[in-house]
Amino acid sequence: MRASNLLVLTGVFFVVQAASSYVFPQNPTPPKRIVISASTLFDGKGHVLRNTRIVVEGSKIVAIDPKAGPVDYDLRELTVLPGWIDAHVHVTWIFGKDGKNAGQGGTTPEAIYAAASIAYVTLMAGFTTVQSIGSPADIPLRDAIARGSLPGPRIITAAEPLFGQGERTGSPDQIRVFVRKQKEAGADVIKIFAAASIRQGGNMTLSQEQLNAACDEAKKVGLRTVVHAYKDAVRAATLAGCTQIEHGTMATDDDLKLMAHKGTYLDPQAGLVIENYLDNKERYLGTPGYTEEGFAAMQRVLSLNHELVRRASKIPGLKIVFGTDAVAGAHGRNAEEFIDRVRDAGVDPMAAMVSANSLGAEAMGLTDQIGSIAPGLQADIIALDGDPLKDITAVRRVVFVMKAGVVYKNASH
Ligand SMILES: [Zn+2]
Repeated sequence: MRASNLLVLTGVFFVVQAASSYVFPQNPTPPKRIVISASTLFDGKGHVLRNTRIVVEGSKIVAIDPKAGPVDYDLRELTVLPGWIDAHVHVTWIFGKDGKNAGQGGTTPEAIYAAASIAYVTLMAGFTTVQSIGSPADIPLRDAIARGSLPGPRIITAAEPLFGQGERTGSPDQIRVFVRKQKEAGADVIKIFAAASIRQGGNMTLSQEQLNAACDEAKKVGLRTVVHAYKDAVRAATLAGCTQIEHGTMATDDDLKLMAHKGTYLDPQAGLVIENYLDNKERYLGTPGYTEEGFAAMQRVLSLNHELVRRASKIPGLKIVFGTDAVAGAHGRNAEEFIDRVRDAGVDPMAAMVSANSLGAEAMGLTDQIGSIAPGLQADIIALDGDPLKDITAVRRVVFVMKAGVVYKNASH
């Protein structure tokens, strides 16, 4: 039997993943109509709608209509909002059998089940889309979830990242070849490390010329770029026309203003990633990259990060998205970063929500698909027991999760 026949017989009509940006699978069955009632609905763009109903058909929202019925899900006791988008996770990053950090991209059966389980707990925590940047092992997981074979968030991934190593990274032309290779391997976005780990000082590891080549070539092949950067690397990546800066610790106000001016997105981490390392110190210490000196540096970096988020939120026009950098120990707890932003960095709770909804979608070029509750968009809808505008810890109580019209969690009664 030819492969094409097999695909038809097994009813797999999903679009095979294209090489570039994320392909939304089409639901092959006749669309089912679902009506959700809400008394408090965040539209994902900063507005609150009262006493209305969302009509879903198949994988998409078709109407917001207070008169629609009959109601299938009564979520009037809850706060209803678009599924969250985490712009920076490492979905295959796990603890190994010995309980210690095993890094990312493992291919043993244990590692593969662990990654599938991470996808599941991340979805259950209200994250319907994640950008996982750092491992080619993300690609088969992304595709399995997109086919509907596994429950998990939509995964957008970078395949192999470009690790800046000064001269040794290669010439601008070699860097361009590397970028094109990632596109061919199925990357949705290009991840670039333009600075050393902050635990090792965070100095620049790519020249301006090298960064220009990487971000320019990505643009040429239609891919976005997300750049791990601290200090000087923030300005360099902004000048190179890269799409988004990850971390950004020790960026100056002038760097942040330049980002706002150029429309470069900032994805800072106010707490979870470092709190998670500190909480799991025994499991990380002694594994590659994690030393006592590194842990001592993290304590200092945590307060620098609070300060960065506090400062960045006051820069007019700077677009701050939500990304946790979730690694082993943090998966499924991604929403803790909202609490850190609001409690420790003074971020307005609605701004924190929007950063993980419409702004997160905009940064990924997916405004017309995700990040808002509006007709024509994917039906990614979650509900919280509590109002995050009054009590940000409500983000821990995700009691309803729908992704692309499928209800994965409903503990709303
Ligand atoms: Zn990361």
